[in-house]
This record gives sequence, structure tokens and C-alpha cells, in this order.
Amino acid sequence: MSKHEDNDPLGNTADLTEQEVPSGVDRRRFLMRSAVIGAAAVMTGRTVSANSRTLTAFNESLTQQPGPAPPLDKNLNVVKKGQGPVMTVIDEFYKVGPGPSSSHTIGPMRITYDFYQRAAKLPADKLAKATKLQVNLFGSLSATGKGHGTERAALAGLIGKEPATVDPLFLDSLRDKPDQVFPVKLGSSTINVSLKDVVYDATKGNFHHPNTMTVKLLAGNEVLLEQEYYSVGGGFIEWKGYTPPKKNAPKYPFRTMKELRAHADNNKITIAQVLLANEMSIMGRSADEVYAFVDKIINAMTATVKSGLSMSEDDVLPGPIKLHSKAATVYKRAMDDANVADRSVGMLSACALAASEENARGHLVITAPTGGSAGVMPSLVYALVEVRKVPLQKVREGMLAAAAIGYLCKHHATLSAAEGGCQAEIGVASSMAAALVATAHDAESLVVENAAESALEHHLGMTCDPVAGYVQVPCVERCAFGAVKAWTAYAIASNEIASRHRVNLDATIMALAETAKDMNSKYKETSEAGLALSVVLC
Ligand code: SF4
Repeated sequence: MSKHEDNDPLGNTADLTEQEVPSGVDRRRFLMRSAVIGAAAVMTGRTVSANSRTLTAFNESLTQQPGPAPPLDKNLNVVKKGQGPVMTVIDEFYKVGPGPSSSHTIGPMRITYDFYQRAAKLPADKLAKATKLQVNLFGSLSATGKGHGTERAALAGLIGKEPATVDPLFLDSLRDKPDQVFPVKLGSSTINVSLKDVVYDATKGNFHHPNTMTVKLLAGNEVLLEQEYYSVGGGFIEWKGYTPPKKNAPKYPFRTMKELRAHADNNKITIAQVLLANEMSIMGRSADEVYAFVDKIINAMTATVKSGLSMSEDDVLPGPIKLHSKAATVYKRAMDDANVADRSVGMLSACALAASEENARGHLVITAPTGGSAGVMPSLVYALVEVRKVPLQKVREGMLAAAAIGYLCKHHATLSAAEGGCQAEIGVASSMAAALVATAHDAESLVVENAAESALEHHLGMTCDPVAGYVQVPCVERCAFGAVKAWTAYAIASNEIASRHRVNLDATIMALAETAKDMNSKYKETSEAGLALSVVLC
């Protein structure tokens, strides 16, 4: 109870903020409700005692407590995985595919492609009866799928197209001519499929994962084959009964950053060398094979920045927001800036905008770790390769160290905005990018960790609220901020006394995981709150 027991409904600010907040309610919400009740009393000429105001504010704060999202199914591999050593490998992690979302575009396309492969293996007599293919989207896939082109991606997978090789122009043609019908050959049957076969189903329910979808092969009403799938973030997919593929043991097993750094420091090698050895042992590949893949990703990242910068300043991104492309304008003006520091920040931002706008256009991007964050890593890669002319080998090592950060975040927290909000996308991307820059500059392992930690720490709590369900606002600019924060994190980590850095990466990843669990589901890629509500499209 407040010590100010007078009946002044408004009192002064000190009266308000000094009120004792009852346990079990959010302090800010309680104080705001209390102030609003007092103001309403003044406006309506009523008298409200401090006692009564406190009681009403308490009750209203209780009823308006934001609820966390329902828990994920504990049987999902993406939930169980944190128990053993990190087993993710580089070509599972960095994936090339069409934007705008790894979980809502690349994942669904991989899912329907997978279903098509399964269906093709059914006995001939079953296939002979098949009449229809149907995809149902649930949860976040249904809530924001339209803005992510989920139905087009799902249809493309059904007709046998894969994310890495699909022509983005094909996906554009589905948007421009939505009535197109495609024949799918399954055994002796030919089934005609179109966008009408992709159903936007329930957005709310007791799903195993927020990004759930089912795919069915039907003979009239009879179900010949049905599979429930989950797009679990970063383009990774699982299905009901999923078991991860068998892999060899890593040379340097690690579960945490502490263990990873211990391998590096005890063996007097770098974090990148630990990762390289593990990639080779887990998948039985040579160093040349691993680097050949890394080179492909580096080239694809610089290509996406160049392609984005080459777009006209008058280009308008697809969708109802009518957002103008700004990468080329920012780049040109930044390069004309006489101040070197301003020029650098502007250039880095423009490169992130460029790759992110390519994602918004549905063009090919690289998940690092996701489509929404696809501007962050490429802008740093471009800056290192094209501007600073850092030797290629250093950038390769940076890509491996960056992957290690992404693996750890996937292992213990999430890369999915539908599970953890934007901190899981742009936050992880920025953390990876900080490790990339630090490694490319030959930083010791502790500095790499500190840079990655710092970048992630300062994205904790960031929500996902894409306006109209399109990965544009706040996503495009957010990539630029993620890129600049990554460089800031490196600048601090490489200039501070490394051993005095107070927070370790493992603690911050744990905070990411816990914050993800507590975050209200409205802020997890559902477009039900935040900017998605406050921005009015005319
Ligand atoms: S707000 Fe962040 S997490 Fe959400 S769609 Fe945009 S980039 Fe992805």
C-alpha cells in the first residue's frame, strides 16, 4: 500500500512511482494502470481512494499479463538437441534459397519437395488411385504465410523444385499469375496442382511447433499418404517421428562456447580450426571440400549485395507496404561522404540493406542464419572481401567461426522468430557477424567470443512484428542495424581488456533461450502486435 494515503487521484509523479507494487504483477503495467485510473477519475469528477486505485490496478494488471507462447513439443529434435555435442555441419546451416524467409519460404519448399519424394515411392496400385495433393498451413505459417510467399514456395516444392536451384522468376510468375495449374506425375497418375491446393488453416491451436504444416496425397476422400511437418527455423525441417541423420563423432566434441574455446586454447589452434576438424570428421570430408562449400557461400553473399546495390533507386518492393528500395541511394551518398567514419557506417548499412531487399524481393539469399536476417552477414563479408581486401583464407576462417556461433544458438536456444522473436534472427546473425570480423582480423579466441557475446546481448528481447506479414518493415533496416552492431561489438571486444569482459556467450545464449520462452506469442512472427499494429498502411 502506498504511504500516500490521501484521496488525490493523480497526486504527483513521486506519489505514483513510489507506490509499492504488489507481488505477481508487472511493475510498469501496474503503475500505468494506476495512473490511468487516477486520470479517468479526475476527468469524470469521481473520487477514488488510493486503496481502491491500487486494488483495481492490481486486478487489471493481473488480467492483462502477457502470456508466454505455448511450450514446444519436447519430442521435437530441435528441442532435445541441446543435450549432446553440436553436430550441425556447414552445408546444413548456410543454405541458398529464395527469400523472404528461411522458415516460411525455404522450409515449406523443402517440406513439400520431401513429401513429393516420399509419395513417389508409394506402391504403383496406390499411386494409380491418387487424385489430389493438399497442403495445410498452421500457426505462424498460416498467420504470416501470405506475406512470405509460403503458398508459392509450398506449391513449387510439390512440383519438384528445390530452394537452391529454383528460379526466383518462377516464384514471381506464381504471384503474378496465381491461377496457373501444374501437372505432377506420380506413378501412372497425373495430378493437377495450383495455389488453391495450399490451404491457410488455423492460426491458433495446440501445435507441436508454431510452424506446422501437413501434406496429403488423396484419392477422393481417402488419405493415401499424410505427413505432419515442422519448419523449425533457418530452413531446417523436421516431421512427426523425425530422427536426425546418423553422423560420425566430431574430432573436438563441444556443447558450449566454453568447451569450444577450451579445445582451441588447449590445442593452440583457432576456433575456425576446431570447426574445420569437426566438419571433416563428422561428414568425412577433406579440408578442400569444406572450403569449396565456404567459398560458394562467400561468393553468393557478395553476389547478393552486388545484385541489391544494382537495383534502381525507384524500385518498389513487392507487397502492400510499397516500400522503396534505398540501398543504392544510401550507398552512393555514403561513398560521397567526406568523413571516413561516416562513410564506413553508411557503406556497411547500404550493403545490409541491399542483401535484405533482395530477400524481400524473393530473390536468392543465404540463410545466415535465416532469410529475414539475410542482410547482416553478407554486408560484413562484402566489407571484408571487396572493401578491406582481407585475404580469402581469413574470411573462410571467419565463416567457420560465425557458423560455430549459429550452431550454439541453434543448439541451446532457437533460430526461429516464431519461437523466439527477432533476437533469434537478427540477434544471432549479428553475433555470427561479430565472430566473423574478429576471426578475419586474427583475434584470439576470447576476443571472438566476447565480440559474439556483445552483439547477441544487445539484441536480447527484440520482438518480431513484420508489418502486414511482409519481411520488410522493420526487417530491411534491422539488418543494417545488426551489421553495424556486429562491427561495434568487434570494435569494443578488440579494444577492451578481453579478460575483463564480464558476460560469457553461454550465459547470453541461455538468456536468449529463456527470453524466447517468456516472450508473448503476439511478438513471434504473427504480425499481431508491435509495428504490425501501430503502422497504418494507406
Ligand atoms: S522482424 Fe526480424 S524476425 Fe521478424 S520477420 Fe523481420 S527480420 Fe525476421
